[in-house]
Amino acid sequence: MPAQKLSARDDLEALVARYDTFLFDCDGVIWHGSTLVPHVQATLAMLRQRGKRLVFVTNNSATSRKDYAKKFAALGIDAAVDEIFSSAYATAAYLAEVARFPSDKVAYVIGGSGIRSELRDVGIATIGEDDTTPVSLPTLAEIEPNPAVGAVVFGIDYDITYRKLANAHLNIVHNPGCLFIATNDDRTLPGGKYVYPGTGAMLSSLVHSTQRTPLVMGKPNKPMLDCVMQNYHLDPATTCMVGDRLDTDILFGINGGLATLCVLTGVASEADILDPAAPQPTYYIDSLGDLATLAES
Ligand code: PLP
Ligand code: CA
Repeated sequence: MPAQKLSARDDLEALVARYDTFLFDCDGVIWHGSTLVPHVQATLAMLRQRGKRLVFVTNNSATSRKDYAKKFAALGIDAAVDEIFSSAYATAAYLAEVARFPSDKVAYVIGGSGIRSELRDVGIATIGEDDTTPVSLPTLAEIEPNPAVGAVVFGIDYDITYRKLANAHLNIVHNPGCLFIATNDDRTLPGGKYVYPGTGAMLSSLVHSTQRTPLVMGKPNKPMLDCVMQNYHLDPATTCMVGDRLDTDILFGINGGLATLCVLTGVASEADILDPAAPQPTYYIDSLGDLATLAES
C-alpha cells in the first residue's frame, strides 16, 4: 500500500491515539549529530504526557547506553538508560543471552568505547586496540590468531587499521567456532554536508577476506528486532516505528509487522518514498516536530 502523508491535525491526532508504543530511530529523527530537530522535545513530552511508551533504537554503536542517556539529558530530553536500545547493546545482549558466550573466552573488538563498555557490562572481556593504542606499522609475523577469542565483534571504528582487520580475519578463519558479529551494516553515514562510508562499508573488507557472513544485529535485521520486541514485551499491533531511512528503519518496522512512520528530516526524501520499489512506510510526515502542535490544545 502506498504511504499516507499526514499533515492535518486530525490525522496526527489519530496516529497518536492508535499506537501505545513509539520506537524512534535517533539520527535524522531526534537529532542531527548533536543538534536537536526543531520541536522534538515538545513532541516527546506530549507523547509521554499521553502515557505512550517511548523506546529509542539506534544503529550507531559508537556510544554506550549510559552515554546516550547523558546526551539525551544534555539536549533536554527525558530518556532512561533502559529506554535506549543501541546496536552495541543489542550485540552484547545477544552474545550474553542467546549465544551464551563462554566465560573463558574473550571478544576481539573492532569498534569504539561504546561497544567495549556494553560488552563489559554483560561480563564479556574484550581485547583489541582501542583509541589509545599508538599506531605503528604492522609486522605481519606479530599478528596471530588468539585461541581465547570466541567472537569477533565489528562496529564503527574511525581508526580502523590493517592490523585490526588482520587480527579479526585470523581469529575468524583460524579459531574453530569463533562468532563473527557486526553491530550494524549501514552502507553510509550521514554527516551534515556529505554522506560518508558507514560501518557496512568497512565490514565488507572483512567479509571479502574471510568469505564468512557475519550475524548483523542492527536495523533492519531480525536479531535487533527480536531483542527489542522481547525486551519490552511489545505488541506489534499497537507499536509504530519512526525513522528517516527506508532501507534500515522502515524495513525494520515492516519486518516486525509494525506500523511505520517516515520523517523527511533525515536520509529519505519524499521522492524516495514515492518510488514504489522502495520499502513503503505506513505514514510519512515532514518532521517529528510536527506532532508538537498536538501539545497545544
Ligand atoms: N552508525 C554511526 C556510526 C552513526 O554515526 C550513525 C548516525 O549518527 C548511525 C549509524 C545511524 O544511527 P541511527 O540508527 O540513529 O540513524
Ligand atoms: Ca537514522
